[in-house]
Amino acid sequence: MDFSYSREDEAMRAEFREWLTHNRQYAVPAIGPLGDEEDVSWEATLRWHAKLCAGGWLGITWPREYGGRGGTPLQEIICEQELELIGSGVPFTGPGIWLVGPTLVHWGTDEQKRAHLQNILTGAEIWCQGYSEPNAGSDLAALQTRAIEEDGHFIINGAKIWTSLAHHAQWMFLLARTDSAAPKHKGISYILVDMKTPGITISPLIQMTGARHFNQVFLEDVRVPVKNVVGEKNQGWQVAMTTLAFERSTGQERIMMARVRELASLARRLSRNGGILWDEPGVRQKLGQFAAEATAIRYTGFRQLTRQLKGLPPGPEGSMIKLTASELGLRIAAFALELLGPYAQLERADALAIDHGIWARRMLEARGPMIYSGTNEIQRNVLGERVLGLPKG
Ligand SMILES: Cc1cc2nc3c(=O)[nH]c(=O)nc-3n(C[C@H](O)[C@H](O)[C@H](O)COP(=O)(O)OP(=O)(O)OC[C@H]3O[C@@H](n4cnc5c(N)ncnc54)[C@H](O)[C@@H]3O)c2cc1C
Repeated sequence: MDFSYSREDEAMRAEFREWLTHNRQYAVPAIGPLGDEEDVSWEATLRWHAKLCAGGWLGITWPREYGGRGGTPLQEIICEQELELIGSGVPFTGPGIWLVGPTLVHWGTDEQKRAHLQNILTGAEIWCQGYSEPNAGSDLAALQTRAIEEDGHFIINGAKIWTSLAHHAQWMFLLARTDSAAPKHKGISYILVDMKTPGITISPLIQMTGARHFNQVFLEDVRVPVKNVVGEKNQGWQVAMTTLAFERSTGQERIMMARVRELASLARRLSRNGGILWDEPGVRQKLGQFAAEATAIRYTGFRQLTRQLKGLPPGPEGSMIKLTASELGLRIAAFALELLGPYAQLERADALAIDHGIWARRMLEARGPMIYSGTNEIQRNVLGERVLGLPKG
């Protein structure tokens, strides 16, 4: 790994930093995908999205012909680093820019590209992902939503679950079975659905933190033009896998290191037995351990990036980062609650809550990253079988 940045990269960093000095008043604080809308309003998030887009700072790796910057994955990370320095991040406005946009660039018809890519970039179209169903999560190919072709339309019936941001979305990309007789992974199509189409009902799922992030989406005789299929009919599995290949785990190391710093700050502010917690060797040892793990995740991220920049196929780093970072996030939150003692139970509305009760919420939120983008058990299977060469369970 070459740790230095090229002159071009540094010039871009300087340009973005300069832009941020004039626009940081629009920046929203970084919150995770499970973040609470009470912390950052949706309108403010959209405004920040639009600002970044107008400045040319979204879609960094998108091709120029589709309104992107035509930059490298490293330049995208540079932008994320600069956003983090001002306490912000790439606004979480759903899977438009990072999943469905690049999938359409690869598989979309000219008409689909014209209809959606610009709108995805500007945030005029918010998208949601209709993959999971009540009985099809890890085993996605078991999905039962059906789309039957009739008079130039698909008639879609079924139910999707855990659909993040469906309540804000104008469009959904979904997987539906278009040939029930075909083997499990065949006979599936990837279809773009306008969320205003009659027959769609969105029902909220409230998280244990009390926040509303995702939904159940019911589809009853939803009529979608056949031209909205992406790739070939019945060949949607391939398209679906392209979308999943765009999921990435970079940035986790920065989130984890920020958490360790916040934990250190907490330990400096809390007292026990007449001294501050920071002075207890056991506490500092634990913090050192967390920092070492966050650093290991960081270097694993560099290895992943090196592969990507060399144009090599993805290695096991994504699974490693997903697994270790999500579990580290949970252990950091759990340790914070140990430090807080009885104060851990106070929620944000309570005047005595330390750090607005954020640690208790993080403890609850920490379960999410262990489930989405492939559960940790699935990642363990991947690592066991593909890296360690263990037999299939
Ligand atoms: C915050 C969040 C946001 C999400 N957003 C979306 C979204 O926008 N769109 C969408 O389509 N989905 C979304 N999901 C759903 C997510 O993709 C699924 O929850 C995930 O794929 C797991 O599926 P499941 O919940 O059905 O669990 P299951 O697959 O039923 O798994 C249940 C348990 O069994 C274990 N298990 C399953 N198979 C195996 C195996 N082969 N070996 C070992 N253990 C196994 C799992 O690890 C898990 O512990 C989201 C989930 C979360 C938590």
